[in-house]
Amino acid sequence: MSSSLTRREFLSRTGVAVAAIETADYFCACCAVAADAKTADRDLFQLKPVADGVYAAIAAPRYKVNSNAAVIVTNDGVIVVDSHSKPSAAFALYREIQSVTKMPIRKIINTHFHWDHWQGNQAYAEKFPNLEIIASERTRANLTSADAGSGGIGYVEKQLANVPKEIAKLKEDIVRASSPEQKARLEANLRQTEGYLEELAQFKPTLPTRTVSNSVTLKEGGREIQILVLGRAHTDGDVFIYLPREKVVASGDALIDWMPFLNDGYPEEWVQTLAALEKYDFDRVIPGHGDVMPKAQMAFFRGYLTDLIGAVKNAAANGAGLEEMKKEIANRLAPKYEQGMSKHPLGQYRDRVALNIEMVHRKVVKKS
Ligand SMILES: [Zn+2]
Ligand SMILES: [Zn+2]
Repeated sequence: MSSSLTRREFLSRTGVAVAAIETADYFCACCAVAADAKTADRDLFQLKPVADGVYAAIAAPRYKVNSNAAVIVTNDGVIVVDSHSKPSAAFALYREIQSVTKMPIRKIINTHFHWDHWQGNQAYAEKFPNLEIIASERTRANLTSADAGSGGIGYVEKQLANVPKEIAKLKEDIVRASSPEQKARLEANLRQTEGYLEELAQFKPTLPTRTVSNSVTLKEGGREIQILVLGRAHTDGDVFIYLPREKVVASGDALIDWMPFLNDGYPEEWVQTLAALEKYDFDRVIPGHGDVMPKAQMAFFRGYLTDLIGAVKNAAANGAGLEEMKKEIANRLAPKYEQGMSKHPLGQYRDRVALNIEMVHRKVVKKS
């Protein structure tokens, strides 16, 4: 999208109803949109108790992905870790939270800068003007950068340019669909994508109001909440949220129940950072995606990164080319990792392993 286009010009070119957008407040829009979208919104998150007053909000699989959240209820308000890919999703979770407490949301913590973890900040900030939004210093810098990777203000502009193309492609694919089931699935994806574009078009970047550069301990309404800065991993600004009394960690995407996304990551440091986290005393992890996991599952995830890095380094030392590596290493690691990394409909082993290999090759082998 050319930056000289106003939002109105952009909207009229992409065929989004300008009047509808300009008058829409998504808090109201949530109740006014079509019935199918309303039903879908209600099912976006499942709140699972993981300790007294601590919940994992597990995001339902969606074509337009949402992150999980951690919801921490204190004696004087609620702290939410991560805010999903759009304000309406954040609001859907807020309504879920209201089913367990009517206390206000006091703080949001963004674990990292990726689009699917912060773009809903706006929903909470508009509802709660005194909201504090906490992230690492690096995450705030990435959020304000024009070109930080898969998130931030620059990435919103890229999406505004690319999502209309995605919509056009989905419409073509619907025409060519070979079965009623495929057509229905593509139509659902199209509805999600059109709704997403509408929200992006009225997006107001809502940035962290407080940053941390080292680990800090918050005393919040009777709870101790540590924000751990342990090194680079999934991004250069990851934080982990650690509740020592409840023995729970919310990890963002540095530890997920899917295949990792390495494009903005630091593979070798990631392994070290997870090892540093593992030294803390906790039982369960609320990951950035997938389901609540026992601490023991960290070893599996860390083992995948370690084995992947080792395999790519070895293959490179033996003169293998990237395309050869993608096939050979994917198949070789499959018996150990394919099943455990393919538990959910999204982020499965075969969807991501080739890109993982390419990223390790770029970030580890080429750099050395
Ligand atoms: Zn994510
Ligand atoms: Zn991420």
